[in-house]
Amino acid sequence: MRKLVILGAGTAGTMAATKLRPQLPRDEWSVTIVDQNETHYYQPGYLFIPFGIYRPDEVTKPIKRFIPSGVDLVTGAIDRVVADENKVLLDDGRELPYDYLIIATGTTPRPDETPGMADDLGGSVHEFYTYKGATALADKLRTWEGGHLVVHITEMPIKCPVAPLEFTFLADAFFTEQGIRDNVKITYVTPLEGAFTKPVASKYLGDMLDKRNVHLEPDFMIESIDTEAKKLVSFDEREVDYDLLVTIPLNMGADYIARSDLGDDLNYVPVDQQTLLSKKHDNIFAVGDASDIPASKAGSVAHFAMDLFPANFMNHIQGLKMTEFFDGHANCFIETGHGKGLLIDFNYETEPLPGKYPLPGVGPFSLLKETELNHWGKVMFRWMYWNILLPGKELPLPALMSMAGKETGDLR
Ligand SMILES: Cc1cc2nc3c(=O)[nH]c(=O)nc-3n(C[C@H](O)[C@H](O)[C@H](O)COP(=O)(O)OP(=O)(O)OC[C@H]3O[C@@H](n4cnc5c(N)ncnc54)[C@H](O)[C@@H]3O)c2cc1C
Repeated sequence: MRKLVILGAGTAGTMAATKLRPQLPRDEWSVTIVDQNETHYYQPGYLFIPFGIYRPDEVTKPIKRFIPSGVDLVTGAIDRVVADENKVLLDDGRELPYDYLIIATGTTPRPDETPGMADDLGGSVHEFYTYKGATALADKLRTWEGGHLVVHITEMPIKCPVAPLEFTFLADAFFTEQGIRDNVKITYVTPLEGAFTKPVASKYLGDMLDKRNVHLEPDFMIESIDTEAKKLVSFDEREVDYDLLVTIPLNMGADYIARSDLGDDLNYVPVDQQTLLSKKHDNIFAVGDASDIPASKAGSVAHFAMDLFPANFMNHIQGLKMTEFFDGHANCFIETGHGKGLLIDFNYETEPLPGKYPLPGVGPFSLLKETELNHWGKVMFRWMYWNILLPGKELPLPALMSMAGKETGDLR
C-alpha cells in the first residue's frame, strides 16, 4: 500500500484530499490528513466579525464534515518531518510514514516576532487575523468612543494582502454609521510604498483611502511598539502614536517547517512556482499559503492552483512529466463599505487591471470599480466556500488568468 500524507486540513489541504482521493485507487493508496484543530475556520469571515456583520459561529464548522470517506483524519500537532526517512512525527510521539507528502499548513500571524506587540494584545493593540483576535476586536469596537485608529501591516507577505485595506474601509463606514466618524482619526501604516503591492491597484486603492480621509504612512518598517507611550517606532526613527492599534503581525509558516529544515527564513517551503513540487525533495509538494510562490496568500490562489494540481500529482507519481503550469492566478473581492465592493484579478506577471470579469464586456463583476454586485460576490463567497470549494466541486471559472475583458490602455 502506498501512502499519501497531507499536512493541514485548512482550505488547500482539504481540497487536495477531496480532489485526490477519488483518483487514487483505494486498494493501492491510503490517504491521511493531519490537523491540530477539530474546527475548520472560514478565515475571510474574520474581517466581518469586528463590525458585528458576522457572528463568530458563522465562520466555523467541524473539520471532519469536509474530509471525504476513504481519508483518515488524524488530529494532532505536527512536530517535524524527517524527510530522509519519509516520515512525519506528531508531538504526542505518533509517527506517520509516507511515500508522498503534501504540506498545507498555511501561515500564521506571529505578534511575538515584533518587540512590544504581544504585550498589550487585547488592550489597546488588536488584530483580526485569528478567530480569537477578531472576536476580541468586536468586543472592543462595540464600546470604543473614538480617538486615533491606526491600521498597520508589519511586513509582507501576509495572507489576503487586501484585508487590512478592507478593514480600513469598513471601519470608516462603521464609525460613520455609528455617528462618531468625526471623533476618529484613521491612519494606514504600511511597509509598502503605497496602498498596495501592485502599481495600478495601489493608485486606485490609495485614492479610495484619500477620499475617506485616511492618512497613508508608507515605507514604515517597524522596529518596535512602545505600549506604555502607545506608539509604533520604525527603524528610520519615525513614530506613529495610536489610541487603538489594529495590526497585522508578521505572518510565518509553521515552526515545524524550520525544525524539519524544509523552509526559508519565514518557514515557507521553496517550490517550483508552476508545479508546487519542493525544490529539495521529489516526493514533497507544498500547496496554499505554506509555499513560497510569489502569489497572494489567498484561498482563491489555493483554489485555482488546486484545479491544476491533481493532474500534475497523478503524472508525477507515475514517473510522467507534469504538464499543467500554474500562473499564480488570484481573484479577490475587496469590501469597501456601505454595501459596495471592488474586484481584482491578477497573476504572477499581470497586475490588477480595470475591466469586466469573468465575461469580457459583460461581467457581471467590474474590476477595480466599486459596485454593489462586487459586494454581493464577496457575500456569496462564504456559501461557495462551504458548499463548492471545500467539497472539491468545479466552479465554472478558468484556473489560469485571462486577459479577455481587461483594459490595458493608459491607466496611470
Ligand atoms: C482576515 C482574513 C481575510 C481573508 N480574506 C480572504 C479573501 O477574501 N479571499 C481569499 O481568497 N482569501 C482570504 N484569506 C486568506 C485565506 O483564508 C487563506 O489564504 C487560506 O485559508 C489558505 O489556505 P491554506 O490551506 O494554505 O491554510 P489554512 O487554511 O490556514 O490551513 C492551514 C491548516 O494547517 C493547520 N496547521 C498549521 N500548523 C499545524 C501543525 N503544526 N500541526 C497540525 N496542523 C497544523 C491549521 O490548523 C490549519 O487548519 C483571508 C485570510 C484572513 C486571515
